[in-house]
Amino acid sequence: MGRIIEGLWDCTYCNTKNIGGSIRECPNCGKPRDDNTKYCMPKDKAKFNYLNEEEAAKITRKPDWWCLYCGSYNSDNKTHCESCGAERTAENPDYFSNIEKMEAKKQSHSEEYEVQETPTYNYVEKSYYSSNTKRKEENFFSKNWKWFIIIPIILSVVIGAICLIFIPREENITINDIRWERSISIEQYKTVEESDWSVPEGGRILYTKQEIAGYEQVFDHYEEKSREIEKETWVGTEVYVVGHENLGNGYFEEITEIEDVYDYYYETEVYEEPVYRNEPIYGTKYYYEIERWVYERSVKTSGLDKKPYWGELNLNSDERESSKTEYYYIAYINEKGKKKELSLKYEQWKELEVGDTVKIKKSLFGTGEVIT
Ligand SMILES: [Zn+2]
Ligand SMILES: [Zn+2]
Repeated sequence: MGRIIEGLWDCTYCNTKNIGGSIRECPNCGKPRDDNTKYCMPKDKAKFNYLNEEEAAKITRKPDWWCLYCGSYNSDNKTHCESCGAERTAENPDYFSNIEKMEAKKQSHSEEYEVQETPTYNYVEKSYYSSNTKRKEENFFSKNWKWFIIIPIILSVVIGAICLIFIPREENITINDIRWERSISIEQYKTVEESDWSVPEGGRILYTKQEIAGYEQVFDHYEEKSREIEKETWVGTEVYVVGHENLGNGYFEEITEIEDVYDYYYETEVYEEPVYRNEPIYGTKYYYEIERWVYERSVKTSGLDKKPYWGELNLNSDERESSKTEYYYIAYINEKGKKKELSLKYEQWKELEVGDTVKIKKSLFGTGEVIT
């Protein structure tokens, strides 16, 4: 059971505000509380008027009843209207049924005018819980809002700079040299020595050896260790006020919740931890000889003309051709007076002559193409 708090009401006749819930008649005009009266909690928590136990015991927990003759409210413990003396019967509505009627009326009214009014009475106030965590989240964004702007700007500048570097440049040049290079690499079929954990087909074992093929974890011993463990002890309960119930008689009662309170402490726990050691695993390594195709030499040709050709191979019976490479260059003097070379595809290169003026596109890596 929560404590009782005196509520407030406004006189609907002379508009006097914040009259105490214990006062039945307006101290300004003398009009008793009527069916337009609403009981509210004081807005300022510091100004809550808590009733002591003795006072609280005298307060009925039931709502006021409404006199059908003079329209004033009377306490539940009164059998006759304090204003006109009329007797209370089963017909007399109470505070809450009057409020309901008033709200229903307001509802139909506001529908007509499309005005939505929020109900002013509340049985239960909003909980005081969890307001702190929400404030923390808000703080994170309000404190760091600058970074939400700065980081995207920095990122876009960096990305832009990288793009600029890699974008091919266009340049008008006059060709003053032409060059080509061709190369064919040749492999030889010969006997090589290899080693492995198994012998491939065609391998001839020369010798074997016991070698470490890997390691395995083997249990060695236990080691005594300690760790801190969080423990809790129940120390009691704490009562929280989660809201206030409107009693409908000028008073409000706290709605409370009981929560267990724990004390947290650490205890040192000793435990055994297994310790492992690395033990090598030995295996048979085969040393063998085998025939393989191995790179042997390259046949290179180059020239400063427009007549590229492949070099003569003159292959021996144990040789074969493996791969070919070809490069075609044009050379020119750039805007800064430096000699530059550009690698082109053969199809473009073969159309060009020394003295031609062309527009080129050049990447960072010296490769490029002729546009016109
Ligand atoms: Zn008044
Ligand atoms: Zn009356």
